[in-house]
Amino acid sequence: MTTTARPTDPDVLATLRSLQEADLPVHGGRTLAYVYDSGLAEVDRVGREAVAAYAGSNGLDPTAFPSLLRMENDLVGFAAPLLDAPDTVVGTVTSGGTESVLLAVQAARDARPDVQRPSMVIPATAHAAFHKAAHYFGVEARMVPVGPDFRADVAATAAAIDDSTVLVVASAPSYAHGVVDPVTELAALAAARGIRCHVDACIGGWVLPYAARLGRDVPVWTFAVDGVTSISVDLHKYAYAPKGTSLLLHRTPALRRPQLFASAAWPGYTMLNPTMQSTRSGGPTAGAWAVVRTLGDAGYERLTADVLQAVDAIVAGTADIAGLRLVAAPDSTLVALATDGSCDAFTVCDEMTARGWYVQPQMSYGDQPPTIHLSVSAATLSGVDDFLAALRDSVAAAVAAGPVVVDRGVADYIRSLDPAALTDEDFDGLLAASGLVGEGADGELALPDRMAEVNAMLDLASPAMREALLLTFLDRLSRPTTA
Ligand SMILES: *Cc1c(COP(=O)(O)O)cnc(C)c1O
Repeated sequence: MTTTARPTDPDVLATLRSLQEADLPVHGGRTLAYVYDSGLAEVDRVGREAVAAYAGSNGLDPTAFPSLLRMENDLVGFAAPLLDAPDTVVGTVTSGGTESVLLAVQAARDARPDVQRPSMVIPATAHAAFHKAAHYFGVEARMVPVGPDFRADVAATAAAIDDSTVLVVASAPSYAHGVVDPVTELAALAAARGIRCHVDACIGGWVLPYAARLGRDVPVWTFAVDGVTSISVDLHKYAYAPKGTSLLLHRTPALRRPQLFASAAWPGYTMLNPTMQSTRSGGPTAGAWAVVRTLGDAGYERLTADVLQAVDAIVAGTADIAGLRLVAAPDSTLVALATDGSCDAFTVCDEMTARGWYVQPQMSYGDQPPTIHLSVSAATLSGVDDFLAALRDSVAAAVAAGPVVVDRGVADYIRSLDPAALTDEDFDGLLAASGLVGEGADGELALPDRMAEVNAMLDLASPAMREALLLTFLDRLSRPTTA
């Protein structure tokens, strides 16, 4: 590594802006995954300024930064009536949906020290965060199939529960298909056996309550359902807050108790943490607090009306596009689309990118074909006609382009590989062959512009092989900048 002095950047913020040009836009409502756009400049401004004002504050010690404790309790208090919470409800601000899910699983595990080999019963459509929790905490994830409507199978759940079960999970809604599980039935199964039931409303929890207030038909899923013991809801999704906040609520303080961690087993301060983080930036909490107070119930009701109107328009519009079909009638703001044999879903995604819209490819799963995921934002409404025109053109372009053909030999090879038997060199060769990474003109790692061929190849790989390939990809991407 070099030891020559590095120059300073006299206009670092300009450099930052130019770096950011390579990223997906977070405003404009044209990025239909990863970001959620209210379309309200004032809301973005207060969120941004609150984050900046609290970027150096530390939620580690509520007695040192009492304003952060106040904001956290305000946010939980705001969420409580949305989730039909009883007076006993308590909650915590976490860094995101994954952390909320991790903590729900960890608390469920640690509430049952009597269970030697804990397990949880989750629908096959539950978010991958539950698999991460299984991996981190040694809780076996028992996946139960979903029905033809993509909702958890209640009978299969009942059959999967046994003495080792510490948690039953439902989604409201599921990310991949956008439908709400039968929460009443799943929670009843859990309650009858004294087991916790977590509802993962990370993505729907701030939309469904307002949808109900607007008179929409919303399946029940909140604390109003007997047996629901905890709920996760992300503020950095449909509360339109800056990134870095989610809420995890428990029905009672006793249910939350195992989530809290203290350690006096060292000579420093006694560590006292409600989350996985210890130092917790005050920025995201302040940003979420500022956005929630700016919008209030009336603001969220308006934004929910807008986003649902956009979803309705997309559902109606796609019905008129030959080659495309809705996978399930959306219960919320998530839409999954599938193509028929006339065109390739991954190519449609690329064609949308070329037209300035980001939609997210989802790989085939079980007997389900690849699909196209849309997380619709309130800001998408003003461009929804343009979206449908782009979608129609993209499907036409994908039909004209024909199917993505993966070389037969390569396909057979990929299908036959056992990731456990591959070496680093094998993976590098596969990454290059798949087109996932190439070498740019400057010798640096270059990412492909069009993803259809790469996705088609990844789609052929077994899930284990796909995980292994992408882990190698991530490893190769993350190397320190030199010079
Ligand atoms: C987004 C999401 C998560 C994970 O949230 P992150 O904020 O990305 O960590 C968990 N569950 C569901 C249903 C989600 O949509």
